[in-house]
Amino acid sequence: MPPTPKGEYGKRPFGTNSHSCDLSRRRREGLGQIKIVYINVKPMIEIDKKSGFCFGVVNAIQKAEQELAKGETLYCLGDIVHNGEEVERLAALGMITISHEEFSKMHDVKVLLRAHGEPPSTYEIAKQNNITLVDASCPVVLKLQSRIKKAYETVPTIDTQIVIYGHHGHAEVNGLVGQIDGNAIVIEDESELDKVDFSKNIRLFSQTTKSLSGFNQLVETVQSKMENDANLEFSDTICRQVANRIPNITTFAQENDIIVFVSGKKSSNGKVLYEHAKSINPNSYIVSKPDEVVGLGLDLSKKIGICGATSTPRWLMEAVMEKLNDMAATA
Ligand code: SF4
Repeated sequence: MPPTPKGEYGKRPFGTNSHSCDLSRRRREGLGQIKIVYINVKPMIEIDKKSGFCFGVVNAIQKAEQELAKGETLYCLGDIVHNGEEVERLAALGMITISHEEFSKMHDVKVLLRAHGEPPSTYEIAKQNNITLVDASCPVVLKLQSRIKKAYETVPTIDTQIVIYGHHGHAEVNGLVGQIDGNAIVIEDESELDKVDFSKNIRLFSQTTKSLSGFNQLVETVQSKMENDANLEFSDTICRQVANRIPNITTFAQENDIIVFVSGKKSSNGKVLYEHAKSINPNSYIVSKPDEVVGLGLDLSKKIGICGATSTPRWLMEAVMEKLNDMAATA
């Protein structure tokens, strides 16, 4: 038997014309039938190498896995990461997520504190209730907490307002505000600047995962509104694990026809990075799990780039890629 001819990867084994000519030649020469193998065209998909967990999240997850490997019950105060799929994976290993209210009623247990950091009240409750803490607070967040505390302790509060550019109710922001007994003004964007008194001094900080360009713009606006001798001091406290991803996402979004951004819905940096990707490439879509790509109507013949937030696990981006490949195979 002559060997079965093979085509190039992703293409028909022969060009339409050449294979019919070849068949005629084989018939003439009495070589019998050949088997034609059609290979499904695989979509062109790449995963951004620089997307995925930041070191703060990697550290928290490693700590959780180490504790779970001991076989003891481990509680986590709030979702360990703003990614439901990863939370479920760790829950399957035995980790139990609890709220702050549940935490305050517990005694003699082991609780992991996630990378977002906690206010002092959490540590006080743990001490009172004999709770063992596995503290995975990110060092970048801890540094910001101590800067805010120091600013508050060293300036007269009557003249100076501590302003935090951050998301209301976000765990990190709660931890920051808690450092100074709630005496901070939290503003999510410029529309909330009416909460600030521009005739008084301002010390401005930012949540680590806010947008750097948004912060710079805010500083300019606040500066232009300052009255008389009031003074503005600002600290760019945005984490470079997030800010440095902006130039990378810019290039990645330009290089691909379609962007599938994988992120949990609660992820703050996920929102920032996705919005940035969308501003560069309007064909950008956000999904939190593989099945969500089904309804997007993506053109699978285009170049598709998959990227994610600092809270997006690599395995999840790979699962999204697998789903897209499956869809292409059955199209
Ligand atoms: S984004 Fe930065 S500050 Fe936040 S957990 Fe990751 S490394 Fe820490």
